[in-house]
Amino acid sequence: MIYLETVFIVVVTFWAMEWVAWASHKYLMHGFLWVLHRDHHRGPRGRLQRNDAFFVLFAIPSWLCIMLGMMHASPISVSIGAGIALYGFAYFLVHEVFIHRRLKLWRDTKNVYWLAVRKAHMAHHRHVNREDGECFGMLWVAHRYIVDARQALGRGTP
Ligand SMILES: [Zn+2]
Ligand SMILES: [Zn+2]
Repeated sequence: MIYLETVFIVVVTFWAMEWVAWASHKYLMHGFLWVLHRDHHRGPRGRLQRNDAFFVLFAIPSWLCIMLGMMHASPISVSIGAGIALYGFAYFLVHEVFIHRRLKLWRDTKNVYWLAVRKAHMAHHRHVNREDGECFGMLWVAHRYIVDARQALGRGTP
């Protein structure tokens, strides 16, 4: 397999994971796995949250794809595993570090897209119950939050 195909599979897997994350957030975390997700909405939030268990859960398919892919010399499987791992890392940076500031790494953003990502996720956090919710995704943002962010930064469309 050529290098470009590997990169392509990693990128496709990464974006497929945005959908997987959206679906599992909406239907599993706000469904029968609410017991693990609840403290992320209601607290108390210590250094560790029950919600962090999802990083471990999502690491399992990634690890299996990489390990089995290496054992059976399947670059496709390794690439899929790498795509899942990359998404997990991005999720950690965007959700835990950038939005919830569990590590103080960045100052406030002046970037329309990143501000929109944060605003959309804050809209998700306005709800504390399992049943009602919006904005279950992470990197895919509804247009209205882009408009919102533009206005907040004083860059409203004239
Ligand atoms: Zn939620
Ligand atoms: Zn959150």
